[in-house]
Amino acid sequence: MGTIALPRTAKRIQKQVIAGRSSLESLVDRTAYVLATLQSLTAIVIFVASQGEGSGVAFVMLIGAFLQWLLLRCVAEHLRLQKKLAGVDYEGKISGTTWASVACCSLCKNVLHTEGRCDMCGPTITTDDEETK
Ligand SMILES: [Zn+2]
Repeated sequence: MGTIALPRTAKRIQKQVIAGRSSLESLVDRTAYVLATLQSLTAIVIFVASQGEGSGVAFVMLIGAFLQWLLLRCVAEHLRLQKKLAGVDYEGKISGTTWASVACCSLCKNVLHTEGRCDMCGPTITTDDEETK
């Protein structure tokens, strides 16, 4: 068994590495969660400490916590959309609707709730395999 002799010289090459993981949109997201949590806990403490008399203040604080959370989430979403439009990588997900496939009747186009029959217009539902037999 001989040893493999590595060359004594090498060239400097450039390699892409992740330089930083914390983006501004993620920081805004985390700030939104932390502030909403702290404000909610404060509202609970106020409610408990005042033995229910501060329920109005606690309720307003909860609404404020939600609105602040919503505003900061909107800022984070806006940053993601701006980065997406500019073609820059961004962290997190852009909110929105997701599409799903559902089975529908070919006659009335309503969603099928039972397997073999349309509840809306009545015909027996066949699959493509059964029609070709
Ligand atoms: Zn139908």
